[in-house]
This record gives sequence, structure tokens and C-alpha cells, in this order.
Amino acid sequence: MDMQVKTPSSPMQKVMDGLRAWARINSPWVIHYNSGSCNGCDIEILATLTPRYDLERFGVKLEGSPRHADVLLTTGPVTLQSRDRLLRIYEQMPDPKFVVAIGSCGLSGGVFHDCYGIVGSIDEVLPVSAYIPGCPPRPEAIIQGVVALLQSLKPK
Ligand code: SF4
Repeated sequence: MDMQVKTPSSPMQKVMDGLRAWARINSPWVIHYNSGSCNGCDIEILATLTPRYDLERFGVKLEGSPRHADVLLTTGPVTLQSRDRLLRIYEQMPDPKFVVAIGSCGLSGGVFHDCYGIVGSIDEVLPVSAYIPGCPPRPEAIIQGVVALLQSLKPK
């Protein structure tokens, strides 16, 4: 049996944990993946990242590699074809990692619910930390969802 002994954390360890949490909350790097969306939600994500809506003011940076990303922004239902790629991207991300499901299709399958090529909603494949409903959700709603996720990561 694998036994883990819990040791009390040192003051230095606490400082380092606080520093990591501060950096994670103030500079999350996000990666975006479309697992079967009609592209409507994806266009809203891109609009959210433009200077007009300026998601960067919260320190959010779009990242191309899952190995450097903290947050996975996912759109659309999960299709049979994209399921393994979605899982592979998630597994390549370092811990701790968070998934944000964007749009009604990601939350429930939406208009694609019960189609022959659809596995289902994103949370049927991955653990989801934040849900942003809408078809498609407006950039303001995406910003609100991402900021709510970051707020929830603050140490209590
Ligand atoms: S929620 Fe609407 S805009 Fe987004 S992928 Fe589904 S149908 Fe397209």
C-alpha cells in the first residue's frame, strides 16, 4: 500500500506556495481547443483577447503549447474524432490545471446533443472548473467566467 506521511510545511514552504498562487492568479496562460464547436464560441474567445475587451489586463496570455498552459478553454461538444486529442492536450498540461467549458454545446451538447458523432459535454471527458453558458457567450461573459475562476484560486 502506498503510504504518504504528511509533514508540517516550513515557513519557507508557505512563502513559496503563496508566491506560486500569486503568480498563477495574476498571470494565467491559457490554451484554446475546439472539440467540435460550430466556431461561434471560438470567434468570441478571439474577440475577448483583442485590445477592445482586453483579457490581458487580468494577466491572461494565450499560449500555443499545452506544456506551458495553466487553463484550457474548450468550446463545443466533444466529438468522437476530437476526444483523444482533447485528452492528450489535458494530460500534457502541468498541474495544477483548470478547464473552462465555453458555450452551451460544451456544457450540455447543445444543438449537437445526441448526434451520432458526439461523445457529449466537456465534463463527460474532463473535470471542468468553470462553465460559461451562452450560444455563443459574449466576451463579457467569458471574462466574468475566467475572472471568477481566478478568484476561486485565491488561498483562503
Ligand atoms: S454554443 Fe452556439 S456558438 Fe457555441 S459551438 Fe454551440 S452552436 Fe456554436
